[in-house]
Amino acid sequence: MFALQGEIALVTGASRGIGRAVALSMGLQGALIVGTSTSGFGAQGVTAALDEAGIDGRGTVLDVTQGESVINAVGQIQKQFGPISILVNNAGKTRDSLLLRMKDEEWDDILETNLSSVFRVTKACLRGMVRARRGRVINVTSIVGATGNPGQTNYAAAKAGLVGFTKSLASEVASRGITVNGIAPGFIETDMTSSLEQSRRDALVTAIPLGRLGVGEDVAAAAVFLASAEASYITGQVIGINGGLA
Ligand code: NAP
Repeated sequence: MFALQGEIALVTGASRGIGRAVALSMGLQGALIVGTSTSGFGAQGVTAALDEAGIDGRGTVLDVTQGESVINAVGQIQKQFGPISILVNNAGKTRDSLLLRMKDEEWDDILETNLSSVFRVTKACLRGMVRARRGRVINVTSIVGATGNPGQTNYAAAKAGLVGFTKSLASEVASRGITVNGIAPGFIETDMTSSLEQSRRDALVTAIPLGRLGVGEDVAAAAVFLASAEASYITGQVIGINGGLA
């Protein structure tokens, strides 16, 4: 079950954290992986991690906020490997601030990186999926897109927007054999959560029914499932991976 042999997966933001775990888990299920980073150093690290795990594929440099770079990168990947059949829109970042202090630039940056980027990358990959009449799009949203979080109006708005995007696109492309789903992690141990103060971390662990923060592999397991043939009747859904927090 959950075999991904013959699939070509593009995972954005695969240099670390959740994206890295998704790339490795999908690769171990047999998919060829292209994993991205904004830096050459990060892309080399992706290639090295795939090689070490015996997975076909490579790292590549991609900044999802740059439209032209997205079109070029997707074009090069498809030329080298064939049409992308699994797209994991994982790249993301936070720039937290209370709304009254938030600069326009902080708002725009977070909406660009977490939401507009998904429009761009998905559009670039979708034509090949439509032609092939098969494909999987998996968008990494967040628990805060549903619950909100003080200091994260920009990030929560982007992630909530991603839920609407996911459900709308799912309806548009279902007839072409393409599913579009979301994964909404709760609090996962990555660089993104490493700066949480110990007191906040302790409070979170107390509030999480399963009693711990998640790890990348918890999220990756759901991504593998949604990418697999076994999930072919699931579309327009968002799966929460949050230890029971919401
Ligand atoms: P992370 O460890 O900080 O890694 C972020 C990844 O995104 C890196 O690979 C980074 O690439 C890439 N990235 C950032 N900006 C980019 C850009 N402009 N273009 C392309 N790639 C870019 O983050 P994470 O915790 O694994 O988060 C992954 C996803 O899960 C994000 O969408 C995040 O919002 C979501 N999420 C995380 C949590 C959590 O608790 N960790 C909870 C809910 C949702 P570089 O190599 O260039 O740095």
